[in-house]
Amino acid sequence: MITLRPHHILCFQGYIGKGYSKSFIDNMNIVVAKLKEDPSINIKLTPYADDVCKKCPHKVKNVGCTSNNKVLSMDKKVMDYLNLDFKIYSYKYLLNRLQHNITIEAFNDICSSCEWCKYGLCHEAILDKVKS
Ligand code: SF4
Ligand code: SF4
Repeated sequence: MITLRPHHILCFQGYIGKGYSKSFIDNMNIVVAKLKEDPSINIKLTPYADDVCKKCPHKVKNVGCTSNNKVLSMDKKVMDYLNLDFKIYSYKYLLNRLQHNITIEAFNDICSSCEWCKYGLCHEAILDKVKS
């Protein structure tokens, strides 16, 4: 079982080994490897710090994130667009929801306030999913 904030479903798609710190990247690589190894793995969605946040320098105990309002807003948008609840789903199911429900407009609405958005990798990877 992996615990995830909903917007992190999108963040995996364009991930190329960059991140906030070496320990963040090392941990992210472990999570990504688990998802690749077993796409049927169960994912528990949470509004709190998750298995990606675990080693992030922006994690704040009892709050979640230094940008908590921003990430909560992204999480809510992902849940609305993908029609999800704070429940357990297989990663495969979440990818399927992403593929069927994401649009350019939805991506921009969710991700335009993220500092990584300007590099274009997430945009390209996520919208490729829609076409595939
Ligand atoms: S733009 Fe930011 S929030 Fe959106 S998928 Fe990329 S890293 Fe995640
Ligand atoms: S920036 Fe916030 S939501 Fe993103 S990984 Fe770090 S603690 Fe988690």
